[in-house]
Amino acid sequence: MTVAARDRRPTRPAASAASSTLPSTQPAASQAIVLAVIAAGALATIALWWNDTTAIHGFGDWLTNAGRVTGLLAGYGVVVLLALMARIPPLERGIGADQLARWHAHGGRYIVSLVVAHGLLIIWGYAVTAHTNVVSQTATLLTSYPDVLMASVAGLLFVGIGVVSARVARRRMRYETWYYLHLYTYLAVALAFSHQFATGADFLTNRPARVVWSAMYIGVAAAIVWFRFAVPAWQAIRHQMRVVAVYPEAPGVTSIVISGQHLDELQAQSGQFFRWRFLARDLWWASNPYSLSAAPRPDWLRITVKDFGEHSSALARLRPGTRVFAEGPYGAMTAIRRRRRKVLLIAGGIGITPLRALFETLPGGQRDITLIYRAGHNADTVFRDELVAIAHQRGAQLHIVTGHRSELGYDPLSKAALTANIPDLRNHDVYVCGPDRMAESVVAALREAEVPRRQIHHESFEF
Ligand SMILES: Cc1cc2nc3c(=O)[nH]c(=O)nc-3n(C[C@H](O)[C@H](O)[C@H](O)COP(=O)(O)OP(=O)(O)OC[C@H]3O[C@@H](n4cnc5c(N)ncnc54)[C@H](O)[C@@H]3O)c2cc1C
Repeated sequence: MTVAARDRRPTRPAASAASSTLPSTQPAASQAIVLAVIAAGALATIALWWNDTTAIHGFGDWLTNAGRVTGLLAGYGVVVLLALMARIPPLERGIGADQLARWHAHGGRYIVSLVVAHGLLIIWGYAVTAHTNVVSQTATLLTSYPDVLMASVAGLLFVGIGVVSARVARRRMRYETWYYLHLYTYLAVALAFSHQFATGADFLTNRPARVVWSAMYIGVAAAIVWFRFAVPAWQAIRHQMRVVAVYPEAPGVTSIVISGQHLDELQAQSGQFFRWRFLARDLWWASNPYSLSAAPRPDWLRITVKDFGEHSSALARLRPGTRVFAEGPYGAMTAIRRRRRKVLLIAGGIGITPLRALFETLPGGQRDITLIYRAGHNADTVFRDELVAIAHQRGAQLHIVTGHRSELGYDPLSKAALTANIPDLRNHDVYVCGPDRMAESVVAALREAEVPRRQIHHESFEF
């Protein structure tokens, strides 16, 4: 394996190797508990329907009841989807923003299907019971039933949001366009809410059910307002962040140092990220996620950005003094996840940023921490001097491997290479960050090498 520190560039004052990590006192949720709570809520929702269903007579009644239960589950599921995206700190720290986004996207498909099934089953069931056709039954429902028209508009919005979120459609769309269209979900939820109580058989006569259902919606709405708007606004006032330095690290890669007041109160940790909004012309409207590329200090934070698109390229032109709003910290790829004394960090490309910060701060004795950093070419390697300094100071092991597999003649991240170079691999916690394809193949290699899943920690740079 290549261990190298070629091409020495001057070390930046902002990125000295010595650091202390800030201990977090904030709670973190576990995946199993969160999934169990979501499943329990779904069971309670089905129990509500069951409780209010004394007997089912005939085909029309079967259809209507299937429509009722799908509607209830859709109403519950929408709240869960919103809660996952409410940026609730214990969820963000314990589960990770990328995993929450995956659950949200996955759940979204089921919820849109439930919404469609609910609408169609109710129309069909009512039509069968009333001995009429589905067209005239649809007209009756839209014109004579309270709030059903609004709910139908909401249903169409849900389907539209589902369509633009499908992978094929999303790939063709700018991130911001997709994001702002996605915000119509809030309108859809508001439009659909009242028809649940106005026409929902389970709520008409069941006051406790109405109270619990309303509390669920109000609770999640409050969490969204608090964590997505009030807390960031307060942080902007309290921390007064500004850009203090902008410098290149490699072709197309720029580091930005941001100063601020009382930054220790944020309890940010190495491995975490913020959503950054730079109040400069052409940038103020976008808020993008970038990881801390050095351990957080009480008076400054640093990010390092590769120019992938419009936003990331523009950051190289930022001027010192630019005001910054940072929302976070988010992300679960931190020391909290660690289970073993020995740790292996595997970074690919710009995925080095959070691992550079972890390399600096993860507690460990001599030779407990190993970093493997894969980069395309020597020129693409960032933080080389800093990594060498950290490795030297901590007695940690550093392997910088450059060159494509065809040039090297082997895959340095295959099971064979990893087991040959990392003695006792199975007894390591492994943190992986890099392009999704690389991360997937590394995780597969680690699993093949019998590293337990709970010891593998991965965060994707794609939501
Ligand atoms: C948790 C996390 C940590 C990250 N850390 C770093 C880092 O340390 N250094 C680095 O160079 N890159 C990092 N990224 C990637 C970085 O956020 C994107 O490359 C950047 O936002 C692209 O924006 P753009 O306008 O330049 O490119 P675009 O061409 O507009 O977007 C390219 C892709 O980036 C993603 N993206 C764009 N905007 C957003 C957004 N607001 N929120 C979420 N995803 C978005 C989308 O998948 C999009 O398809 C991180 C991403 C995530 C999710």
